[in-house]
Amino acid sequence: MVVEVVVVVVVVVIVVVVVVVVVVVLVVVVVVVVVIIKSAVEEFEVRRVHELESKRDLHKSGPPSTSNSECQLCHRMCRSQIGLLAHNKSHL
Ligand SMILES: [Zn+2]
Repeated sequence: MVVEVVVVVVVVVIVVVVVVVVVVVLVVVVVVVVVIIKSAVEEFEVRRVHELESKRDLHKSGPPSTSNSECQLCHRMCRSQIGLLAHNKSHL
C-alpha cells in the first residue's frame, strides 16, 4: 500500500514537472517570436519612413535642371512641354 502511494506521488510529480517544462518552453518560444516580429515591424517602419522621405525630397526638389520647359511669362519650370502647355493656360 505504501509503495503504491509512493509510485503515484512520483508519477504525479513527474507529470507536473513535464507540464511545467512544456509551459516554460512555450512561453519562451512565444516571447522569441514576439521579439522577432516586433524588430521586423520596426525595421519595416524605419525603411518605409526613409523611402517616403526620399520620395518627398525628390518631389520637393522640383523638375530636373535640364528641363527646357520654362514659362516665358513667370519663368516657372515645368517638367515637360505638355506641362508647359497646360501651365500657359493659367495665364489666359
Ligand atoms: Zn507661367
